Amino acid sequence: MEKIKSLRGFRDIFGDEVIKFRRIEEVSRRYFSLFGYKEIIIPVLENTGLFIRSIGDTTDIVEKEMFTFRDTGGDSITLRPEATAGMVRAYLDTGIFARERISKLFSIGPMFRHERPQKGRYREFRQIDVEVFGIEAPIIDAEIIWMIFLILKSIGLTEYTIEINSVGCPECREDFKGLIVGYFEDKRQDLCEDCRRRLQRNPLRIFDCKNPVCIEISGSSPLLFDNLCETCKLHFKDFLSHIEEFKIPVSINKRLVRGLDYYTRTVFEVTSGSLGSQNAFLAGGRYDNLVQSMGGPSIPGIGFAIGVDRLALLMTPSMQKEGPIVFLAYLGDKAKGFIVPMIRLFTENNIKFFYLPDAKSLKSQMRYADSIGADIVMIIGDDEVEKGIITVRDMAQSNQTTLPLNLTNLIDNLKRLFEK
Ligand code: ATP
Ligand code: MG
Repeated sequence: MEKIKSLRGFRDIFGDEVIKFRRIEEVSRRYFSLFGYKEIIIPVLENTGLFIRSIGDTTDIVEKEMFTFRDTGGDSITLRPEATAGMVRAYLDTGIFARERISKLFSIGPMFRHERPQKGRYREFRQIDVEVFGIEAPIIDAEIIWMIFLILKSIGLTEYTIEINSVGCPECREDFKGLIVGYFEDKRQDLCEDCRRRLQRNPLRIFDCKNPVCIEISGSSPLLFDNLCETCKLHFKDFLSHIEEFKIPVSINKRLVRGLDYYTRTVFEVTSGSLGSQNAFLAGGRYDNLVQSMGGPSIPGIGFAIGVDRLALLMTPSMQKEGPIVFLAYLGDKAKGFIVPMIRLFTENNIKFFYLPDAKSLKSQMRYADSIGADIVMIIGDDEVEKGIITVRDMAQSNQTTLPLNLTNLIDNLKRLFEK
């Protein structure tokens, strides 16, 4: 019989990849808690109008990427292509906006976009989404970048760039539109079909086009960054000065625009060269008018989303776990007495600790240690007990040394050994 396969662009996550996903989530949750974010779980399906109104009807997402259906009642519903629209709706619907002066929220789950599947681009993908409501001051923009920096550092990622820009407010954008329509108008025939349409309906979108000719043309156009109004200029300047205070390495990319209409002022992306053309694994920005345009009061907001599938592509096996795994191989009656004190010692010190009860030989224990990915194997046999030592084997380096069989200093001794 013919097998039924998964849908194109939809996939099963298992093995190492699922471990990486969990690790990204664990580290993120740890920092969310530290920075005062609260989790909110929101629906995967929403009214289609929610996305059209918030993301904008001339964006790629709304024009061609949404999974939209009619339900049996005839209503148009859409699998969420991103989380911010639903987060804003939930923030208003639940009344959180009326109860809290500042809301820091996060949500984790799948998003759906009908795109051409390729490496790092799927039709179902996962995001970790973060939103802050109620702060206009640029210190929060910098605090968010700081949190992102810590999350990536904690995962162990080093090769990436944090790109920042300002896309201004509707006023500076309105003035700027005239300027670029003038610039692009006489190059109209060289633009791709999409951009010719954009020029009419939403000229700023041209900057987001991936077509090489359009990129080339927009490469020498006037920049919104150079045409910001005084208030937006000041906001960006303050944001940048806080970034410098935090000492976060960033790069200003004056051409950075985002694929959604709701962004104002600060926008950012975190990119990595090794991802090819799908180079952004995290993106976000400020949306000071979105809450109001969705029927709420005038409350500023800023947020970002981690593209979990893409971030996982950048992770090496050593980034999958937190701290080393220690395995204790023991043999003989005298060694047995050390097992409970060792379990206590290692788990009290937050170190992952494994052993294999009832093993018949050292060899079978070593094989087991290897299979669970132990970094350090400690061996206690009758010989070691006799001499008052413990044999310590570094599995990655394949070398061996000894430490005193003294539980009071064991953790410190081990740490010293592996810091070298
Ligand atoms: P791209 O330019 O790659 O199309 P985007 O601007 O459409 O990205 P956002 O809407 O900013 O993406 O979403 C935030 C993050 O979600 C992206 O930086 C990316 O890591 C991830 N992402 C977006 N679309 C996909 C997809 N189809 N498959 C996997 N991850 C995705
Ligand atoms: Mg996209």
